[in-house]
Amino acid sequence: MRLHTHLSETEDENRFCQEIYGCRPLDYLENCGWLGERTWLAHAVHFNADEIARLGRARTAITHCACSNQVLASGCCPVCDMEASGVKVGLGVDGSASNDASNMIQEVRAAFLLQRNRYGTKVSHRDALRWATKGSAECIGRSSLGEIKPRNVADLAFFKLDELRFSGHGDPIAALVLCGAHKADRVMVGGNWVVEDGRIPGLDIEQLIGGHSAAARRLQKL
Ligand SMILES: [Zn+2]
Repeated sequence: MRLHTHLSETEDENRFCQEIYGCRPLDYLENCGWLGERTWLAHAVHFNADEIARLGRARTAITHCACSNQVLASGCCPVCDMEASGVKVGLGVDGSASNDASNMIQEVRAAFLLQRNRYGTKVSHRDALRWATKGSAECIGRSSLGEIKPRNVADLAFFKLDELRFSGHGDPIAALVLCGAHKADRVMVGGNWVVEDGRIPGLDIEQLIGGHSAAARRLQKL
């Protein structure tokens, strides 16, 4: 899975790093021996142009967490500048600690909207899907994932377009992003079905929600 941490998420983090360590987060990362291609970073919002170039030269990858960055008002990761510098870009959901559902296909839409707002129409829904698939596989150095091609791992997600939200859709791939797909009908991981007819076989969802909610309540009381 390579080395992973969250870096330069907020201006507050950059200030904290400067006060405690006397340097910016990327310098600290480099001092720890982590600035290289075996590392991928979540967020990467507040890097300057020089730092983005250094990330590209080091072949360090980043994961864009569009929903989290908007919920927490952290800022906007400069994804297109990153890619222009040679930084590999994937998508992430930053976990569920910010009252988020961690829905990956909704993250694709959020990334598309946020980056299109920043860079204009040069960002397409296909860019967002590329970050979610091939880009995310590149973050963790797994060339056998992220693309449908011979000899790759059989990881596939299938979506149906018969819900009201897709009614009257045009390009079906664009519809997944633009109309807001939120749930796969079927998912295959390594050649095995793990979601069928929108359900995970053998999983008691009500029991899972009950157990998880109780654990979250305990944590919130701490
Ligand atoms: Zn984070």
